[in-house]
Amino acid sequence: MNYLSTRGAGAGERHTFSEILLGGLAKDGGLYLPADYPRVTPDELTRWRTLPYADLAFEILSKFCDDIPADDLRALTRKTYTAATYCNVRDDESAAQITPLKTLGVEDGAPLSLLELSNGPTLAFKDMAMQLIGNLFEYALAKHGETLNILGATSGDTGSAAEYAMRGKKGIRVFMLSPHNKMSAFQTAQMYSLQDPNIFNLAVQGVFDDAQDIVKAVSNDHAFKAKYKIGTVNSINWARVVAQVVYYFKGYFAATKSNAERVSFTVPSGNFGNVCAGHIARMMGLPIEKLVVATNENDVLDEFFRTGIYRVRKAAETYHTSSPSMDISKASNFERFVYDLLGRDPARVLQLFRDVEEKGGFDLAASGDFARVREFGFVSGSSSHDTRVDTIRDVFQRYDTMIDTHTADGVKVAREHLQSGIPMIVLETAQPIKFGETIREALLREPERPAAFSGLESLPQRFEVVPADAQRVKDFIVANTGE
Ligand SMILES: *Cc1c(COP(=O)(O)O)cnc(C)c1O
Repeated sequence: MNYLSTRGAGAGERHTFSEILLGGLAKDGGLYLPADYPRVTPDELTRWRTLPYADLAFEILSKFCDDIPADDLRALTRKTYTAATYCNVRDDESAAQITPLKTLGVEDGAPLSLLELSNGPTLAFKDMAMQLIGNLFEYALAKHGETLNILGATSGDTGSAAEYAMRGKKGIRVFMLSPHNKMSAFQTAQMYSLQDPNIFNLAVQGVFDDAQDIVKAVSNDHAFKAKYKIGTVNSINWARVVAQVVYYFKGYFAATKSNAERVSFTVPSGNFGNVCAGHIARMMGLPIEKLVVATNENDVLDEFFRTGIYRVRKAAETYHTSSPSMDISKASNFERFVYDLLGRDPARVLQLFRDVEEKGGFDLAASGDFARVREFGFVSGSSSHDTRVDTIRDVFQRYDTMIDTHTADGVKVAREHLQSGIPMIVLETAQPIKFGETIREALLREPERPAAFSGLESLPQRFEVVPADAQRVKDFIVANTGE
């Protein structure tokens, strides 16, 4: 399997899965995609229908990754997707399913269900990919006798998923910057209570953007970056995207009895990583009817899928909402879809994303390409705080099921796109306990707390407070890498 950049640089070069695994952007600023999407045959679909999650993951990853020996790859997926890791199930359903499908009911003739992706260690869907990345990174580094220092900034979900994926991994350290005193008590405790010696929490005296700026400043110091082997695990990482393809197949099998049936998925979206994986599953031949992109008040993506205009927002125009993991000003994985939408024309992608940098966006409304958005199955909608709270209340009253704020945005938008006879699967991206304030507002009661998390906030915490100063963060890295 050969990988190329959406912006076309080095068109004649070959890049393997393992080569792009530890990297981020391609040299030309584009994103990596496979040269062709592997297709799934009807026989394969039939055979995969009954596979346990780990083996399904192996089959799908094998199609994208031909430079890790099959036995090693299978061992990695089996080590990653265990019932012990995805044990935070709420009902008496089986953790062995990894991503159980919870049926809500039938609305407008369409079976409506939730695909639970948040039963992992940090109770958000990012664990699904990040846990695999942790094992893949450890494997790849050991093979080449290398080490990696992961530097990141987080306002919550991504940072904790990365830390829980990398804790105790050989050859890897994590330096995670978070805004001091700005996260919820639960999210702070999740990260800061980790005592693993390879995990470093840095509480930056400032806001999230200050933490992000420090990461950029350190990464732009190329000499420092090379000497201290600084890397990242952000949402554009290809392996993260491909790991997410797996649960679309798993969800499809759980919601159908035969491969003649079609289903739709609704995906609470921010950086477009999750729904990009759905697009790839569909390109592989999974019978997906619609991919419904659900946004919150930060409706960059909804605007595009309704109008053909992609207009990134300035930091000051980005709302802080009650579904904060979808508070984005631009969608970092969107370029992968645009590349396919434009018939895989790298010169046009390059031009459009130059327009994004120089003019703040682009307009495809008048071009024939935008009409093709529906051929790719995409539709969209957005939510607000009021509809979010109403949806949490409604789903609780009607189905006795407590959902988090992001999933509520999904259910709200899914309901606008139901088709009789076609199952609608909403991806559940987090558990309610992570966003307790809004649950209390909606339901006047406490969110459900998985047993393993009782007393989390009173565990001892390990973190370092640092000023919003890149040099101080570099000093900390130097002092703690022993290199
Ligand atoms: C990250 C996240 C999202 C958005 O996912 P993208 O891949 O960025 O579109 C939605 N919900 C939750 C809870 C998240 O953590």
